[in-house]
Amino acid sequence: MGLAQSIVDAIVSVIFPAPCRICGAVLTRTSVLPICEGCFQSLRPLNGPVCACCGRPFASEVALDAKMPKCFACRRDVYAFECARSFGPYTDQMVRAIGLMKYERLTQLGQWFAQRLHGVVQENTVLSEVDVVVPVPLHPGRLRERGYNQAELIAKPLARWMRLPLGPYLLVRTKPRPPRLLLSRRERWLTVRGAYEIRKGTRVDNLRILLIDDVFTTGATLDACSRALKRAGAKSVVGLTVARAISWAAAEAAVSSQKVTTTYLKPASKGQVSRLKMD
Ligand SMILES: [Zn+2]
Ligand SMILES: [Zn+2]
Repeated sequence: MGLAQSIVDAIVSVIFPAPCRICGAVLTRTSVLPICEGCFQSLRPLNGPVCACCGRPFASEVALDAKMPKCFACRRDVYAFECARSFGPYTDQMVRAIGLMKYERLTQLGQWFAQRLHGVVQENTVLSEVDVVVPVPLHPGRLRERGYNQAELIAKPLARWMRLPLGPYLLVRTKPRPPRLLLSRRERWLTVRGAYEIRKGTRVDNLRILLIDDVFTTGATLDACSRALKRAGAKSVVGLTVARAISWAAAEAAVSSQKVTTTYLKPASKGQVSRLKMD
């Protein structure tokens, strides 16, 4: 660190003794983001074996012995997307960092996350061989209330780095999220079933789509978006999120929710009905 920078930092920490918004430590460096170096360091990537399909981390290396290691949910073909990956585990620090971006419109934090996701894309060719980047949409009511979509804060810079078009207009959320904040894992599946549709007048035929969201909890949201996109003719859908909630209960909820899939989807044509019954 140069002398000039240390003087600036010293003055800044005296004049603006701003606390790190994650751990509360006083920020001693000038930065556009109110997060200390230590907290940034703690937002680490997932390492270790993951499900080849949904990217769920495995508890042990044993699962990797199989040629195509798949988790409990993916062996039962629960998800409509081809593949999903996440940057890092949903730790306490990650919860707070995502909350900051989500509720305070920290676009620079969106860029920081997008940079991490770009790293994940570069390691997984299946995520990079796509035609368009689509942020998971908010319900129009929620979007009006918040003024922006946090998934778009990440998807926009990512699309730019991937040199791909951004398609925030392709999907719409038609069913609002229920007012209750805490939903059980099974409720998450039920509330997003059939909650997304293709915007009228747009086409996704034969497109390979990269869906972007902040958190992968049960996979219900990415799954519901993927079903809508595929019903409308998308060729393939892959998902990428900043964080991943790590829990076996999440995989089990995904499997148990399969039973309700057919009753909650509203198919538009007879052909789709027969396809759904085969699921
Ligand atoms: Zn901190
Ligand atoms: Zn899986």
